[in-house]
Amino acid sequence: MGTLLIRPPGHRRDVALRPAATAMVWIGEGHPHETIAVPGVALGDHDVLVAVELSTICGSDVHTVQGRRSAPVPLVLGHESVGRVIATGDSGATTVDGAPLRIGDRIVWSVTVSCGSCDRCARGLTQKCRTLAKYGHDRVGVHGDLTGAFASHVQVRGGTAIVRAPESLPASVLAPASCATATAWAAVARAARDHDLDGAAVRIHGAGLVGLTAAAIAAEHGAAVEVSDPNPARRALAARFGATSLDREPEVVIEASGHAVGDALAGVATGGTVVLVGSVFPADPVPLDAESIVRRLVTVAGVHNYSGADLVEAVGFLAGRGRAYPFPDAVGEMRPLTAVDEALAAASAPEAPLRIGLVPGR
Ligand SMILES: [Zn+2]
Ligand SMILES: [Zn+2]
Repeated sequence: MGTLLIRPPGHRRDVALRPAATAMVWIGEGHPHETIAVPGVALGDHDVLVAVELSTICGSDVHTVQGRRSAPVPLVLGHESVGRVIATGDSGATTVDGAPLRIGDRIVWSVTVSCGSCDRCARGLTQKCRTLAKYGHDRVGVHGDLTGAFASHVQVRGGTAIVRAPESLPASVLAPASCATATAWAAVARAARDHDLDGAAVRIHGAGLVGLTAAAIAAEHGAAVEVSDPNPARRALAARFGATSLDREPEVVIEASGHAVGDALAGVATGGTVVLVGSVFPADPVPLDAESIVRRLVTVAGVHNYSGADLVEAVGFLAGRGRAYPFPDAVGEMRPLTAVDEALAAASAPEAPLRIGLVPGR
């Protein structure tokens, strides 16, 4: 008779960290972050422990600390990172493409953790999984302490889409992949389901990193792209990301600012598609001229986060055609992780760079 090895349910692998990991815990509006030391983690079978190389501050982190987006506290914010695998659970871990991950691999990972088996995951809507978790959004404790990017390490859980990050790309290009780049890819891909982008006219509202990235992606698909933004400096930057001015109504409008939904709906050509990707914060409802949408045969599509396949494409874009655009300049400042409060204040200033980086161990 052979021996049957039965692993107890909920088995976890304990990993000690010497020195302890550092996580910056947000405890609520108006309070500075608290620095906590995390001396060890318990990895699930398919978890990956990552040492963070660089994390970047996304607009939604700023919104959270300003109290404009509700969040459960205590919370480790941040969901844009690049880092290296330093340990895996007992069953090992793979990239979203199924390639095994090894210690030392440089990776980026999706903002969402999905079960892979519920009805929504089965339909490909993994970012809307019935038991969804999100890095930088969930209260610490339930899944350990290392649940956000504003930390020296992140416990990347099984069910996260992981993508290998090319060694040749700077961390400043890779860190935003898991929010801005992949979201921009998803928005452009949604438009491309309705329209051949080669030769199409595309207008993008909002020259934040999502809008600028979408501009570059659409331009690389052969589209003529116009970027609309009230900030002249951002408009000038958009020209470096492939933007020009359109001589006709756009078949595709991507609303990436959250503030121009009315203009986006009004400005699209007959038969066109409006992709709404910027309205992720509470804002006043926008009047909808249903008759105009009906008569002009307009399609309105919402895009929120992205799939694992979008993250793969986003990293591929940054490593390939995207090298022609000034993505390395997006991170305008680097600050030590422990200066997260000052960094968040700087990120909310009117002339803030597109991204501010947080570097652990500095
Ligand atoms: Zn984000
Ligand atoms: Zn699911």
